Amino acid sequence: MKKRVLITGAAGFLGSHLCDKFIKEGFFVIGMDNLITGDLKNIEHLFKNPDFDFYHHDVSKFVHVAGKLDYILHFASPASPIDYLKIPIQTLKVGSLGTHNLLGLAKEKNARIMIASTSEVYGDPLVHPQTEEYYGNVNTIGPRGVYDEAKRFQESITMAYHRFHGVETRIARIFNTYGPRMRLNDGRVIPAFMGQALRGEDLTVFGDGSQTRSFCYVDDEIEGFYRLLMSDYSYPVNLGNPNEITILEFAEEIIKLTRTSQKIIFKPLPSDDPLQRQPDITKAKEILGWEPKISRSEGMRRTFEFFKSLSPEELLKNEHKDFSKHNRK
Ligand code: UDP
Repeated sequence: MKKRVLITGAAGFLGSHLCDKFIKEGFFVIGMDNLITGDLKNIEHLFKNPDFDFYHHDVSKFVHVAGKLDYILHFASPASPIDYLKIPIQTLKVGSLGTHNLLGLAKEKNARIMIASTSEVYGDPLVHPQTEEYYGNVNTIGPRGVYDEAKRFQESITMAYHRFHGVETRIARIFNTYGPRMRLNDGRVIPAFMGQALRGEDLTVFGDGSQTRSFCYVDDEIEGFYRLLMSDYSYPVNLGNPNEITILEFAEEIIKLTRTSQKIIFKPLPSDDPLQRQPDITKAKEILGWEPKISRSEGMRRTFEFFKSLSPEELLKNEHKDFSKHNRK
């Protein structure tokens, strides 16, 4: 009998790649998503697969899954600054109530659970690069606080279930990850720049562009998740690519890659935008034998191919998702 895994956020960017990975590894996959920020087109190729099932459900409400479960991967959450600014309360609930429900399910089913944490737990870091031992510098009441604090609470409740109930838990601290199936208009820098280049618009660098990020290609990240889940390590592990770049240099790289004749324009820096971010991945190397293999030039080339393949309608659809009906919940 196949091992059964529940993946929340299955219709999202990382969740959908995880579904593909676990199908490939021979699991029976149950994907769950409420489709607020996810898109069924990311997993529609799986619907004809007998080893895949999909539940349309919001995990901040009680989660029921019939039958046995061996693993749970909690990857449901708005994850881009634009999304969590538009649906702040949903963001808080999926990280807190949602995580609580899934930990309860893991306890009930005797399943191992991995939660998607984030480099945002480090906030605007005062330590560089960030090691897992750094406690972070987060503004609890700033616009990003809804995401950062939900994720910090998520880590706390996960460790509590581990220590108090003996649930097998894994915590992945995810740094900026990119690749095919990112949402074109989620406001993140990579889809933003690539969309702008394809539409013939200028590239918008926020602030003076001296802030840094370190981008990891999705296939590398997914391999890291898989190894962490299968390991016996229950403390947080950074998963990301340590290759750091300023946003201004990155905009210049994208101009070269896309061969656009557009220029760079500067816009105000959003509040609490971290100035620097680079993972220290010593732990992942030592414990999981993992490190990223795909260079930024190769990863960006593959990602640009994906954005280029979108229809002109998708490319021009510049408005953001309408979240209004979810806002008061
Ligand atoms: N950014 C930018 N132009 C854009 C979108 C984002 O300069 O059109 C900057 C943003 O201010 C941040 C960095 O790119 O410093 C990465 O932003 P993203 O939203 O992708 O992720 P974050 O790491 O901030 O969560």
